[in-house]
Amino acid sequence: MSMRAPFTTEPSIDFSQPANRTAMLAALKDVESQLGQRYPIVIGGERRESGQWIRSVNPGKPDQLVGEVAKASASDIEDAIAAGEAAFASWRKMSAEGRASVLFRMAGLLRQRKLTLSAWLVYELDKAWDEAEGEVAEAIDFLEWYGRQALKLDQPVELAHLPNEITDYRYLPLGVGSVIPPWNFPCAILTGMTMAPVAVGNTVILKPASNTPVIGYKMFEIMEEAGAPAGVINFVPGDGGEIGDLMVEHAKIRFIAFTGSKPVGVRIFERAAKVQPGQRWLKRVTAELGGKDAIIVDKSADVAAAVEGIVTSAWGFQGQKCSACSRVLVHADVYDEVVAGVVERTRALVTVGPGVSGEATVGAVVDANQYESIRNYIEIGSSEGRLVYQGEIPAGLEGGYYIPPTIYADVPRTARIACEEIFGPVLAIVKVESFDEALDVFNDSEYGLTGSVYANDRALLERARDEAEVGNLYFNRKCTGAMVGIHPFAGIKLSGTNSKAGGPDYLHNYVYAKAIGERVQ
Ligand code: NAD
Repeated sequence: MSMRAPFTTEPSIDFSQPANRTAMLAALKDVESQLGQRYPIVIGGERRESGQWIRSVNPGKPDQLVGEVAKASASDIEDAIAAGEAAFASWRKMSAEGRASVLFRMAGLLRQRKLTLSAWLVYELDKAWDEAEGEVAEAIDFLEWYGRQALKLDQPVELAHLPNEITDYRYLPLGVGSVIPPWNFPCAILTGMTMAPVAVGNTVILKPASNTPVIGYKMFEIMEEAGAPAGVINFVPGDGGEIGDLMVEHAKIRFIAFTGSKPVGVRIFERAAKVQPGQRWLKRVTAELGGKDAIIVDKSADVAAAVEGIVTSAWGFQGQKCSACSRVLVHADVYDEVVAGVVERTRALVTVGPGVSGEATVGAVVDANQYESIRNYIEIGSSEGRLVYQGEIPAGLEGGYYIPPTIYADVPRTARIACEEIFGPVLAIVKVESFDEALDVFNDSEYGLTGSVYANDRALLERARDEAEVGNLYFNRKCTGAMVGIHPFAGIKLSGTNSKAGGPDYLHNYVYAKAIGERVQ
């Protein structure tokens, strides 16, 4: 086996350095000159169109077309599954080293094109520069991590054995699967969900989210360039409502990798459980869903640190991270100080405006539907809590899906804005009388994705370690920014199947194990 350096996370680019700013501005200019192009469906390595197009626009400037991507129909899905099955015959026999090399090569290509890909994210999602660059870095991390994990999974497994037998135990790929990622990390999550199953010998049909098909195509192109053979990854952009059920229910689909909202995830989970005529296996489903992530601030906490963590977790990428803080549960003794601090730091740090500027910290939300839905929650909040802050939207941004960051305090624990995933820049602050009550509110949710506890009391932290019902728990730090290989990421409860992206077990979701005993004497 060839030698490889141990895994380390990709360093981030510091945009306060003038040279880096200049390079990013050049990348944005270059990408701007490429906006408005058309991209095909790709099945078995062949490009095709369908006559129907998905339009992708800049959410900060919806009349700016980022690109149009051919929309796949049911018959394209049938063809893509057939192409995936055909490619499986040889891809499953490729050595682990050969497959992992495709991931390492892709990581190298992403490193070379980091700023260009960041610029595509800035245009297609109105991400701030550092959020966009961080996402490309995370895609690189997934590739470096899963490549190494795939090599590890290929190593012999130690088992007990009989004196007269040789035992063998190996992990084998499942077959062709459907990969359905969300729009909020269309570079990193899409890459991880696609390349993990591919690394262990599966083939896939990949449907990018309808809001972000252009960056999806860019990632697909790099997968091809890195050496994924024709048919191993089939690119089938389309409307989830139209082709999603077929991608899930098809008798030849062996697994589904889904990340997205709870309602869609639950639907997929139910439908994948039904064995279809001609189906010869039980489908595997990884479904990673939403959250209502809370930060507890105990009376023993370092209030300034808690305020900083809340502000960072709440507003990054305009609150559109599944890990974003949307509930703050504060002990009465420090309540006024925390509320005032969060308002003050938000006012100081948040600048609403277009990602392209390189100045704004909060860009537009993804589309008209989310814009309406979040504004509706802000309206609901006005009768549920006390408005303590609402940001300004600078003049000149009319038409863009900009939402003012909004903070409600004195929110009852049962209020809708304290219980439902809003997925936008809205924060609900709840007062609690004790740490017991804080933990009780923390856990009184159908979700269980991320959360933080700020406390300087070891006994309380240890209680939270044991009792807090989330997949990713943090002490005295923000609840966003999970790193590959360091904070394996996935929730519990209705936040999903706990597949733990970027962790030591993730690839096990996409293999089965075969035990072979051979009698030798
Ligand atoms: P979504 O559920 O609307 O869409 C996700 C994907 O499913 C898209 O590709 C969409 O086209 C597709 N889809 C829609 N209907 C379908 C159907 N009937 N069958 C099959 N596929 C269908 O979610 P979204 O708006 O793209 O993403 C935001 C959500 O994702 C939030 O709830 C967020 O919390 C969650 N999320 C979770 C994680 C995690 O790791 N737990 C990570 C990122 C985002």
